[in-house]
Amino acid sequence: MTKYVFITGGVLSGLGKGLVTCSIGKMLQVRGFKVTAVKCDPYINVDAGTMNPYIHGEVFVLDDGYEADMDLGSYERFLGVNLTRLNNITSGQIYKTVIERERRGEYLGRCVQIIPHITDEIKRRVRLVAEKTDVDVLLVECGGTVGDIEGLPFLEAFRQMRLEEHRGDTLLVHVTLVPVLKAVGEPKTKPTQHSVKELRAIGLQPDIIVARCEWGLLPEEQKRKIALYCNVEERAVFTSINVDPIYELPLVLEEQGMGELLCEYLGLENRKPDWSEWRSIVQRFKDAKETVRIALCGKYAEFADAYVSVNEALRHAGAANGCRVNIEFIETEEFEEDPSRVEMLSDFDGILVPGGFGERGVEGKIAAIEYARMRGIPFLGICYGFQLSVVEYSRHVLGLEDAHTTECDPDTPHPVIDLLPEQREIDELGGTMRLGSHPVVVKPGTLAHSLYGSELIYERHRHRWEVNPRYWDRLEEAGVVFSGWSLDGRRKEIMELPNHPFFLATQFHPEFKSRPWKPSPPYYGFVKAALERRLRAKRP
Ligand code: GLN
Repeated sequence: MTKYVFITGGVLSGLGKGLVTCSIGKMLQVRGFKVTAVKCDPYINVDAGTMNPYIHGEVFVLDDGYEADMDLGSYERFLGVNLTRLNNITSGQIYKTVIERERRGEYLGRCVQIIPHITDEIKRRVRLVAEKTDVDVLLVECGGTVGDIEGLPFLEAFRQMRLEEHRGDTLLVHVTLVPVLKAVGEPKTKPTQHSVKELRAIGLQPDIIVARCEWGLLPEEQKRKIALYCNVEERAVFTSINVDPIYELPLVLEEQGMGELLCEYLGLENRKPDWSEWRSIVQRFKDAKETVRIALCGKYAEFADAYVSVNEALRHAGAANGCRVNIEFIETEEFEEDPSRVEMLSDFDGILVPGGFGERGVEGKIAAIEYARMRGIPFLGICYGFQLSVVEYSRHVLGLEDAHTTECDPDTPHPVIDLLPEQREIDELGGTMRLGSHPVVVKPGTLAHSLYGSELIYERHRHRWEVNPRYWDRLEEAGVVFSGWSLDGRRKEIMELPNHPFFLATQFHPEFKSRPWKPSPPYYGFVKAALERRLRAKRP
């Protein structure tokens, strides 16, 4: 029998509700309970694949190829679970299913309504995850903020489930903000009171409140106030503070007694938690001494959420190498406006060109790749970064001046990067790329092989273009080593340059499988090389 913890958010978005969800999961895991998490996204998009990462944060790709909300990335990184498309429920999916069912006449002449038809479909999908995963506790996080019109059907479904499940088998955790106004100098609980009032108006009474406080732990007085006005026990009010690394949050909440209370409220046996492993993971981040500087050369440079998994993968790799990673975002359009600006990259220990789409900033990315190659600066290229590395090499080493990807120049005389054959006929954009986990064969004796230590790996993909087979031989004759390819041998997956301290690029996205306790091999090697460069530079 699965128990359910529903997590909602109040006051504003970006409170770290996802991290609270992960922390709840962790507190239960260290007590030996099996957990997983579901994210409910009230938007009408069917999945996150068509959404702009600059506005919504990155698209996180699952093993099964589903293009998920970035919170699923946090769930995987904290909980060590591999999620599937069932773990992300969007309004788009719900309405699509209900409308298709209506068209098939399955509602037998009835009027199809939000309650019960939409809410029934939400509940069905939530319970389906519980059934398929057979967890002890299923965490169900609702995106957005209480009071959003879009979120109402989800909250209503939660209300119904709380009534339908056995009493004590469900729990509602509400995450809010407690700000401090500088002029007043004291924490304000009113926004929390209002958001709980909003919840109660739709029949939901929170059991636990987690107050996000940027300034430190909530004083007793404010806790009492929240408890009284929000109708929860005083010991059920917790504080979520800023932590670095983020993996410390479960420890902070555990210290306040949240783990024990979760068990008590859910009627779970209060087992002794074993934090030893998690604590040592967190400690590795804290012990890091040296700092390496990495230039992240992208197009959504000014918005960190657009590259969460890349950032986390770099940090995991840093912790494993005993260093902190200072990531600086560089808008590559700068290099197009003023080519001499690329010189600024000489201050960095490593250059990373991440995944991306479209034309903007592409020439600047190519300039960054050329700089890394020529100056021997450790380089990691991901997906678009891989494709543009091939373009750069073709232009500057093969001498194919107008070489390009047909994504940017459909009429290039040298389409070294071209559409995958199976992409040519597709005109719908959602969910139609080459997606998800695919096997990659790794060539023995290469850098990639030394990093992975295996001849067969599985990594996650998200792309439409690939290296054009017509140019494979010429590139290899000119010094490129393709050290990885698809199992059928039809596409290149990894390139490296042997006469360089570290130059590696992958068609896949290794960041999606990086975990704090198990860094992704390409990221690990890249940060290691960057650290070596840093230490060398420091030598007199
Ligand atoms: N735009 C490129 C493609 O579609 C790369 C995609 C990516 O970087 N994720 O193939």
